[in-house]
Amino acid sequence: SRIMKEEVKGIPVRVALRCRPLVPKEIDEGCQMCLSFVPGEPQVVVGTDKSFTYDFVFDPSTEQEEVFNTAVAPLIKGVFKGYNATVLAYGQTGSGKTYSMGGAYTAEQENEPTVGVIPRVIQLLFKEIDKKSDFEFTLKVSYLEIYNEEILDLLCPSREKASQINIREDPKEGIKIVGLTEKTVFIALDTVSCLEQGNNCRTVASTAMNSQSSRSHAIFTISIEQRKKNSLGGNSHTLMIACVSPADSNLEETLNTLRYADRAR
Ligand code: ADP
Repeated sequence: SRIMKEEVKGIPVRVALRCRPLVPKEIDEGCQMCLSFVPGEPQVVVGTDKSFTYDFVFDPSTEQEEVFNTAVAPLIKGVFKGYNATVLAYGQTGSGKTYSMGGAYTAEQENEPTVGVIPRVIQLLFKEIDKKSDFEFTLKVSYLEIYNEEILDLLCPSREKASQINIREDPKEGIKIVGLTEKTVFIALDTVSCLEQGNNCRTVASTAMNSQSSRSHAIFTISIEQRKKNSLGGNSHTLMIACVSPADSNLEETLNTLRYADRAR
């Protein structure tokens, strides 16, 4: 309907085109560059005459840091104002989606310039959170893979778990994935560990450059809840009974409660 179209149009989608360098295999095979770039313009030229313009165009010499700073970092500001932010990579197998996103991230890569979008987002989020000491944050992470039309939980990749995951369409909240593991994270290191753990569980390793991998998609989600709780206190005396389980299986939630309760005083 017309209303639907307007709603869709209202969603600000910005597009960044990124062209990777030729990989050694392509060079060995004698491949040539068929794209060229106009300096200072977000434009890519195909062959000699056909050109396309995007919000951003990153030529093969563009480093991960520049992609992140130019196109992704501005989204993080909006997150703290309550906007959702999504970064997705689109393109054929072997075009650089995994590389750009950080979908093959391992801890050894930590301070390398090759680190991709997701670990950089995590670092920036926690940097911003550290600056906002009058707010209380709860961060949760989930990581799923869609493979052969099945949803796999990359943070808990057991067979029984897979059958418990369902997609529901909620009229208010949109599409929800029920039954997916959500891990509460407190520091950047916890969060990148989730990414690394999930990357290791992916059905298709990033090195497998075959047509199979195009059927695999992964979504890493960080949900952030921000409270200002100054909302406690004032003219009244407040008693908060913080309830926790002593079980080690609940450690993460318990820590969460303990920290929250500590700051409520
Ligand atoms: P996809 O996820 O789209 O299948 P990959 O991210 O695995 O593709 O990229 C394919 C190959 O190209 C990998 O060897 C990767 O390291 C390399 N590559 C991709 N983008 C770049 C880049 N910007 N700079 C250097 N190498 C890159």
